[in-house]
Amino acid sequence: MSRPDYSIVIVPFGGDILDYLADVAESIHEQFGLPIRIEEDRGIPEFALDPVRRQYNSNMILKELISSCPPGGLKILGVTAVDLFSPIFSYVFGEAQFNGRGAVVSSYRLRGAGSGPERQGCPPLVSRLEKECLHELGHTFGLRHCADPDCLMHYSVGVECADRKFAFFCPACRDLMLWHMASDLFLKPA
Ligand SMILES: [Zn+2]
Ligand SMILES: [Zn+2]
Repeated sequence: MSRPDYSIVIVPFGGDILDYLADVAESIHEQFGLPIRIEEDRGIPEFALDPVRRQYNSNMILKELISSCPPGGLKILGVTAVDLFSPIFSYVFGEAQFNGRGAVVSSYRLRGAGSGPERQGCPPLVSRLEKECLHELGHTFGLRHCADPDCLMHYSVGVECADRKFAFFCPACRDLMLWHMASDLFLKPA
């Protein structure tokens, strides 16, 4: 199937994210098979800072991403090192627009030591960040949480949980993701 000019756009938001982004981008490309376009670093998302909580509002970052998605961007993913919250949660690893365009992920809570098996030669943070990015992008392709604890769409309660799952979608989630991608690409193009 031919996939025209559509790409997954990745937007770094400051911190040391650029150190990890090439690995994350490669992993996203492998899983979704779409070209990846990394935009310029937009810096710390001060517009989303809640001065009382001293955390950053993921809803606001998501809105900013969606409204600034460049032409041809099928999905847009923000990656930041700052701590994110969503009004109903004390913190979030990330947030996505279900069956929509945007997602945002933070590395902030992914830095602790983990007990789970790591991909060989891959530092824990990169491996966790990859999985969280793939998980949130999965939501943008219409995937809900999955009961299979090895699947990328399994809900992560903590970093240990993220370390346990594999960097793959289970066959059921993968089929659904491909179906949604086909409909995104051919039935309701950007
Ligand atoms: Zn989720
Ligand atoms: Zn699954």
